[in-house]
Order: sequence, then structure tokens, then C-alpha cells
Amino acid sequence: MSTQPAIEALTRLREGNRRFIANVRGIDALLSQQRRADLVAGQQPFAIFLGCSDSRAPAEILFDQGLGDLFVIRIAGNIVAPSGIASVEFAAQRFGIPLVVLMGHTGCGAIEAALESISRPNDESLRNLKSIVDRVRPAIEPLVTTELARDPAALRRQCVRANVRAGANHLRHGSPVLERLVLDGKLAVVGAEYDLESGVVDFFDGVPDA
Ligand SMILES: [Zn+2]
Repeated sequence: MSTQPAIEALTRLREGNRRFIANVRGIDALLSQQRRADLVAGQQPFAIFLGCSDSRAPAEILFDQGLGDLFVIRIAGNIVAPSGIASVEFAAQRFGIPLVVLMGHTGCGAIEAALESISRPNDESLRNLKSIVDRVRPAIEPLVTTELARDPAALRRQCVRANVRAGANHLRHGSPVLERLVLDGKLAVVGAEYDLESGVVDFFDGVPDA
């Protein structure tokens, strides 16, 4: 019943992100290729990552991690769909991983598409994105009718964060398995935002107290 393992995992990610921003590689990530043979027998990743498929937001690079370090699920809009929950459940249970990071990012095309689907509900060209957009829209729809709507950049930023908060909450409460792990203090679900411009990952939701 300790949040210590989750805090340690978070610290590793924060340090890795600092190296990424400074454009230096840590020795562990650099040498992880040499551990490839050891990893054949099994893996012990220290964090689960659920993020967007965007080519500019790859977890292993942003956090300067190597082979066997992160259990990664990526899907457009970092939506929390049933298969994503199942993947997180699998990793959390099988490997006893103490931390899940759900990460959105600035300039997300899926958020843009969800906003377009609100303003142009009959646009046929958005139909193929329906399964993604339908999971993003409930979190961002309330923001569109607020003052924020006058400031498109601020609106988009808040939409990214609202989508992350909703997704993290869904992971905490949308699965009996994960909810039990969270209640037992064995798993922390943290929401984060990656800033394409600065390279910084801001962990802003559900960060466990030290
Ligand atoms: Zn995206």
C-alpha cells in the first residue's frame, strides 16, 4: 500500500524527458540493445503508456527509454477504448507495473477532428473517424460553449487536457480490475500533456503525493 513505486517510475520518466529536451541519451537507453538477449526470456517494463499515434509523440524517444522499459499503447487521440483498457489490465496484472501514463499532446489532429465534428455534424468526410471522435467529443463538447471558444488556441489546449482527464478517469473507474489496483495503492493513473514546441511533458492529473 505505497505510492512509492509509482513515484519512482514517474521520476524515471521525468528524468528521461529532461534528457530528451537537452538532446542527450542516457546510458541505459543507449545500451539497451545489448540487453536484447536477456529480454528474450521476459520483460519487466516499469511504466504503461497510453498515448496518441501522432508521429511526433513516440513514448520511448520523448522519455529516452530503451528496449523493455515501457509497455506502450498508441491510438489516435489517445482514446480509452475497450482494447486499450484490456491492454492496460494485462500489463498491470502480468508485470505488476505501478504506473500508467495517459498522454495527450498539443496540435492533436484527433482533437481537431472532434471539434470539426461538433461544428459540422453533417460532414460526411468525418464519418470514417467516428469511432475516435465519438470518444473524444463528450469531454470537449462542454468547452465549446464557454468563453474559451473565442480563443481557438486556448480552446484546443484545454480540449487536449479535458480529453486526457476524461481518459485517465475512465482508466481509473471503467475497469473493476484497474479500480481495485488503484484502491489498493498498487497502481497510479497519471494524465500528461506533451508540448510539441518545447518538448516538455507536463504530468498534470492524478500525480501521487510523495
Ligand atoms: Zn494526436
